[in-house]
Amino acid sequence: MNSPINETLIRDVVEEVLSRLGGSSSAKNGGTTANPAGKGASSSGARGRFGVFQDATEACAAAQEAFEQLSEKGVAGRNKVIHLIKEISYANAAEWGRLELEETKIGRLDHKIEKLKGLRGVPGVEFLNPYGLSGDHGIALEEYAPFGVIGAVTPSTHSIPTMACNIISMAAAGNAAVFNAHPGAAKCAVTAARFFNQAIHRELGIENLACIVESPTLESFQAIAQSEHVRLLCVTGGPGVVRAAMQSGKRAVCAGPGNPPVLVDGTGCLERAAECVIFGAAYDNNLLCIGEKEVFVLDTVFDRFVSALEKNGGARLTDAQVEQLAKAAFVFPAGQGAGCPHPVVNRELIGRDPGDLARVAGVSIPSGTQLLFAETSADHLFVDEEQMMPFLPIVRVKSVEQGIAEARKAEHGYRHSAIIHSRDVGHMTEMARALETTLFVKNGACVAGLGSGGEGYPNFSIATTTGEGICNPRTFTRVRRCVMVDNLRIF
Ligand code: NAD
Repeated sequence: MNSPINETLIRDVVEEVLSRLGGSSSAKNGGTTANPAGKGASSSGARGRFGVFQDATEACAAAQEAFEQLSEKGVAGRNKVIHLIKEISYANAAEWGRLELEETKIGRLDHKIEKLKGLRGVPGVEFLNPYGLSGDHGIALEEYAPFGVIGAVTPSTHSIPTMACNIISMAAAGNAAVFNAHPGAAKCAVTAARFFNQAIHRELGIENLACIVESPTLESFQAIAQSEHVRLLCVTGGPGVVRAAMQSGKRAVCAGPGNPPVLVDGTGCLERAAECVIFGAAYDNNLLCIGEKEVFVLDTVFDRFVSALEKNGGARLTDAQVEQLAKAAFVFPAGQGAGCPHPVVNRELIGRDPGDLARVAGVSIPSGTQLLFAETSADHLFVDEEQMMPFLPIVRVKSVEQGIAEARKAEHGYRHSAIIHSRDVGHMTEMARALETTLFVKNGACVAGLGSGGEGYPNFSIATTTGEGICNPRTFTRVRRCVMVDNLRIF
């Protein structure tokens, strides 16, 4: 019969082997994974290994311990963490891109790989330059200090990339994190989190810096939000999670939904505008929250713009085909009928390939088609709803004023992203003032707003609702002032 020590040792070895094989850590609590509230697994044997936890409350406690350990490692420790996350994401981009696509079945493999490789551009500790003051009364320094443990929610659309760039920004600022991923994109996130924590443990001896709930639920989100250790929330997703975070009583950084409009006013190069619109809207099958979702085009250049779309990989649908697609794309809640103001977007069609959508629309398209498009009215469901499909509604407008007004309506006041193709600075200014979006791209594809083809750094959390903007290490800090009276000034 084994002594208790031997049992513990054996269990640890088994867990280690399982986690290295990418297996479930559920062996730790007797294989029990059905635990909707993420609670009840309170014996020490249920503790997560390498950041993966059944129990959200335990994850928060372990992250608190990791935060304290990271604090002792100084700036050098943070830099090591950032380097590991970036390089591991880069090295595993093909494998993890495939994992995420297999699990979620949305988006495109080439772009999933690109998103993971692009994490190298996410800023780190260098973003935290303190603000110094020096005067007759001495000196003061405002420093960007960590919060501690941050509770984070990630979307189905970019599960690993959002988690990874959150870890980089949060750890750069000295924090630890606990993630509640989208249930439909949690397995790939768990695999990546385990890998990250193993590497951090090897380098720094910290095991649970980026914790994750293995089977995330609404209840495990509540447990994270209510944990005494969690000092800040960062949620990335649609209106539901933004509402939940803001009602939690904790401070929340909310990267919410969008429905980015494009205006083509005819003063710029139509060929380039079409090329950019196709590239942005087709990216990951239009899963990006910043992606072009509807285009308003001046009547005078409409036909030329549409031909340019066709030349650049777009396939045009007829009115009848659009209506057939719309019937499948939007579901009206039971009993409310087509008069219902808020249909639900059919998740089965989100992020699917253009060929799949074309089949639903009753048409076949050439292979290599990047995007479907069609002329629609300004009040069409495809314009109004954030539909995240590689289909783009193109709306004819009579004037720039009308185009801006329709763009503003379609954006719904999310203040997320908008794009203009124009050479007229007056039009650009007018649109920027009318929409007040967090990102406003001129003469480029949407991704230029995240440093791909434009200036700036990337991040997959764009705090639109709460106004922090594109997340970076400073987003996850508390500003603290340190004052020395009448001294230390050297002149
Ligand atoms: P979603 O809103 O369905 O889910 C997002 C996350 O929130 C998931 O982890 C989900 O489990 C969780 N969630 C949803 N309702 C919740 C609730 N009531 N309480 C707690 N957690 C809850 O969105 P999705 O389909 O995964 O992602 C697409 C949406 O996210 C789009 O609206 C898109 O615009 C938005 N998004 C925004 C950004 C940004 O940076 N602003 C980035 C990516 C995606």
